[in-house]
Amino acid sequence: MTLVAPVATAKERHVRRPILLLRVTTDEGVGYGECDALETTRYAGESIDTAEVTLAQSIIPDLLKRGAEYSSLEEAVGSLSTQGAAPMATSAIEMALMDAALRARGRSLATYLEVSRVAIPAGATVGIGPVRDVLAAVNDVVASGIRRIKLKIAPDVDVVAVRTIRDHCPDVEIVVDANGSYTISDPSHRAALRALDDFGLSAIEQPLSAEDLDGHAQLVKELRTRILLDESIANLDRLDRVLDAGACTAVCVKPARLGGIFAARKARDRCLAAGVPCAIGGLFEAGLGRAAAIAVGALDGFDVAGDLGPSSRYFRDDITTPHKLFQGMLPVPMRPGLGVDVRQDIVDALTARSHQFLPS
Ligand code: MG
Repeated sequence: MTLVAPVATAKERHVRRPILLLRVTTDEGVGYGECDALETTRYAGESIDTAEVTLAQSIIPDLLKRGAEYSSLEEAVGSLSTQGAAPMATSAIEMALMDAALRARGRSLATYLEVSRVAIPAGATVGIGPVRDVLAAVNDVVASGIRRIKLKIAPDVDVVAVRTIRDHCPDVEIVVDANGSYTISDPSHRAALRALDDFGLSAIEQPLSAEDLDGHAQLVKELRTRILLDESIANLDRLDRVLDAGACTAVCVKPARLGGIFAARKARDRCLAAGVPCAIGGLFEAGLGRAAAIAVGALDGFDVAGDLGPSSRYFRDDITTPHKLFQGMLPVPMRPGLGVDVRQDIVDALTARSHQFLPS
């Protein structure tokens, strides 16, 4: 899928959004899942291509061989490791199995998860660029009704952009996301982070590298602004270490990166226990992944506004019925399964290749 507008971060520029779509047939019925690994391994160590290999060579053959042993959805999903080497591949198959089972039972994912909200506040990501372009992008977002901006920043493309947005849109919620591009030992980086502390930001996301938990703990002490960690939360073990180290005051939960919906709920549980609020993160998901993430983001504990926006911000034609904005909010899909229907004509037009796997 081609993104409506490319997104530039401190690390890379996203133009295309490859999607790996899964259709599973179980004893109960049919379900769809989506793998949200990105085009390269740079962000999560897993790319859409490595995820495809893992699914085709290991996860799917394993499920087909052992499928009959499982007596319930929970058991099948539980057998998929949440600490495995390929959480994004795992999350795709989990999503498809959940969709199939919940459709057959006439229950929505949101009901199954016992979410507490019917809609979540939408967010929009604005990439790095000349200040004039950033401001124009922010104005478009605000005009669409979205009240929450995630601005990508990097050293030297930070304070001026934030000040400009703040001056023009004093009421908008701003999170800045550095994608780990600052270094605590660099005096100019530290000065920039201190300057950002004065703009009433909702959070500074991942200022330092994923591994620098001590540095983040230091920033938690130094800055009034919430420190929201994203790349540092590579899995549940890393989340525990981050929480133990006091390295953040909010956690970005990306279901696909953690291994899926169940792993995301576990992450939320651990954050609730630690008194740290969550934000639902996005990875430019297509309609299925977005549906799953919206449901997770409607759980208790997701008290920091998240990344997710309407389908139209990312894709001209989503592979599902599009997620639409209502007064700045994204409704939680409430129909059975993930709550969205796959648009087969769009999928057919986009499909580069397909494989079928059958029990032997
Ligand atoms: Mg981020």
